[in-house]
Formats: sequence, C-alpha cells, structure tokens
Amino acid sequence: MDARILEAPDIVLVGSGIMSATLAVMLKRLNPRLRIQLVEITSELAQEASNGWNNAGTGHAGICELSYTPARDQSGGVPITRALHIFEQFEHSKQFWGSATAEGMVGAAADFIHAVPHVCFVKGRGDVDFLRARHTAMAEHHFFRSMTFTTDSSMIQQWAPLVMEGRDACSVAATSGDGTEVDYGLLARRLCSWLVEQENCGIAAGWKVTKLQRGAGEWHLDLRCMASGEERKQRAKFVFVGAGGGSLPLLQSTGLAEVAGLGGFPIGGQWLVCDEPSICARHEAKVYGATPPSSPSLGAGHLDVRRLNGQRQLLFGPFASWTTRFLKHGHWSDLPLSIRANNLGALLQAGLRNLSLVKYLVTQGLQSMESRMEAVREYYPNARSEHWRL
Ligand SMILES: Cc1cc2nc3c(=O)[nH]c(=O)nc-3n(C[C@H](O)[C@H](O)[C@H](O)COP(=O)(O)OP(=O)(O)OC[C@H]3O[C@@H](n4cnc5c(N)ncnc54)[C@H](O)[C@@H]3O)c2cc1C
Repeated sequence: MDARILEAPDIVLVGSGIMSATLAVMLKRLNPRLRIQLVEITSELAQEASNGWNNAGTGHAGICELSYTPARDQSGGVPITRALHIFEQFEHSKQFWGSATAEGMVGAAADFIHAVPHVCFVKGRGDVDFLRARHTAMAEHHFFRSMTFTTDSSMIQQWAPLVMEGRDACSVAATSGDGTEVDYGLLARRLCSWLVEQENCGIAAGWKVTKLQRGAGEWHLDLRCMASGEERKQRAKFVFVGAGGGSLPLLQSTGLAEVAGLGGFPIGGQWLVCDEPSICARHEAKVYGATPPSSPSLGAGHLDVRRLNGQRQLLFGPFASWTTRFLKHGHWSDLPLSIRANNLGALLQAGLRNLSLVKYLVTQGLQSMESRMEAVREYYPNARSEHWRL
C-alpha cells in the first residue's frame, strides 16, 4: 500500500488494528468531511494482536466464558451483569458489521464472521453445580434463553465429540449457545481498505509515530519511515492511540501528567495447532472450560475450530508466554525502556500483588510440549502429540 501522509488532518489514528480501523470508519461515516490519517508501523496492516493467528477469534458475548460470571453470591445465585453487558456490546458490534456489509464496505460477512456454537464444558461436582446455577440465572434473560444445559454425556458427545471420546467416567456438564468466530485481522484490513478509498483519508503503512506532543489546541506528531528512515512532522486536532502494545511508549512521549505511573508487563499468548483434516472435521465448536485453580482468568483453556485464510484448523490455548517486547514486531528493550522513576513503584507493587500471576507466567513459559499436550487432553483425551504444533 502506498503511504499517504495528509497535511494537518483532523484526526490521526495510530495503528491499523481492529480498534483504530473501527473508530476511523465510524468517524468517517458520521462526518464524511473529516480528514482522517491512519499510521501503521508495519508495511502490512493489522499484523499485531488483531491478526487472526494472534487471538482466539472468539466473538466474546458471555456465552461460554466463565470469567464473565463470577462465583455465586450469598444467595447461591450467579451474578450475570457482566455477561449481559458483554453480550449487548457484541450485539452492537454485529449491527455495525451488518450495516457495513449491507453497504458493501467490507465484502462478504462470511469471509470474517462465522456462526459457531459456544460450549462451556466442566467436570467435577462443584463446577457442574456452578454451571447449572449459571445456566438457571442466564436462561431467565432473553439474551441467553436459547442456551442449553446438560449433564448427559451423549448430548455433549453430539456437541463436541472430541471432548467426550476416551474420557473416564466422571461428573460432567456443558452448556451450548449460539456464538461466533471472527477474523478481526481480516475485518480490520477490509475497514482500512474502505477508508483509504474515501476522500481526504490516508493510510501511512510502514511509518512509525515516534513522538506525540500537545501544542496550542493541537497535537504535534513525529513520524519515521521504517524503510528509509525519513522523518516527517504532522499536526492534528485529535489523536487516537490505538497502538496496542505500542501505546505505552507513545503515551509516555507526551509527558502528560496523567501518564506518570502507567506501566505495562508484556504477556504473549501461544496456541497448539492441529491441521489434520480428519480431526478438524469432527470439531465444530468453541469449547471453553473452567479456570484451573490458582491460575488467572486468562488461564481458561479452549478448544476451538478456526477458519483462517480459508483453511480449517483446531486451536488449543492460549498458553501464556513472557516476553520483554510490547509488540510482536517490537524489540527486547521495550520493557526496560518503559521503566521510569514514576512507574517503577507501581510495576513492583503490581508484581507483588499478583504473585500467583507471576508464578503462572513463569511456569507456562517453561512448559514442555508434553505438558502442553496434557492440557489439551483435559479437553480432548485422545489427542496425540504428532498431530499438534506450537
Ligand atoms: C492470546 C490472545 C487471545 C485473544 N483472544 C481474543 C478473542 O478470542 N476475542 C477477542 O475479541 N479478543 C481477543 N484478544 C484481544 C484482541 O486480540 C485485542 O483486544 C485486539 O486485537 C486489540 O486491537 P488493537 O487494535 O487495540 O491492537 P493491535 O491489533 O495490536 O493494533 C495495534 C497496531 O498499532 C501499531 N503500532 C504500534 N505502535 C505504533 C506506532 N508507534 N506507530 C504506528 N503504529 C503503531 C501496531 O503495529 C499494530 O498494528 C486476544 C488477545 C490475545 C493476546
């Protein structure tokens, strides 16, 4: 894509991931006169967190993710406020994508979103009781009325055969509801393609915003071309920092008082992937489980059918990985360079207050392939190592 740098745009959006791409398109639709600049470090768009391989593609709507419904309250019921909220938000996303599709802005919806059952699977008396109570609370609301609960192994076998085959007899339960899988990377690129065709809009791919400073009623940005090293300056009324992992250094470059004390620990996610067609053909669901004791909510594994680049795969994960880079295309010095006198205390406190998370990250990062396969077998007992790669 040819880089286009506008003279004094109304707004600069940093990054081409799903956040900047969505906001840029919404703004342009709301006010077609806006002059909009999007700047992206990489020459290809949406290659970081939004890239289909770097996230699970779950259309998070609270159906299968137990992390949206905390433990039971004193009355024994399961609070579902957060699940209702995320469901409603995701409905808004679908409406936006529906209207963008209808107006020919993003191509065929089937390219980037698929209906897929969202299954929550648990075992053991305590988790089975919890899932039943969760279902009772959720099914009362019309958002989740069609969600089904069962403790019948043969029913779960129909929903997710791989999950039940070879499983020792034990108390199990599952819910299944109508969910989605989304390729956020492709969607972001389609939104950007629409944007770049609009009048007074430009995308500078392969350019990095290196500095942000507030001037009199406007922002001053320093830009650098990653290929040639050429430096440019830009002014804009508004800036949206949709830079994902690259946000912290940019915010720090502003020198704003609000940024003092902000810090970040980069945490990556890894997946085990199975491409074996005979196995992939037998799993048509996203199966989320309960979070293992002593791990954070991101520790809940899931066995997902994925469709990326027109191919069907099975993914299991995520396994957390520890890195010092804030972006996949970043540098090992990202974390050390982000440490300031004003955020060191906050970083240390965050680490000390979340020792279980620190321990979890270290152990996850040191896992062997065989111990990762043990995690897969919690969901797919007959899984064989030779069918999976990290
Ligand atoms: C393991 C894992 C699993 C996940 N699973 C899901 C899921 O199932 N469902 C879901 O909804 N979400 C999921 N997420 C979260 C989701 O991926 C992110 O919330 C989302 O992609 C963030 O989008 P973004 O646009 O903010 O950031 P990104 O997609 O990271 O985009 C930021 C962009 O900014 C660019 N950039 C950075 N710094 C600069 C700079 N200085 N100048 C120019 N450009 C810059 C980067 O190159 C990048 O392209 C998951 C995340 C992880 C890590």
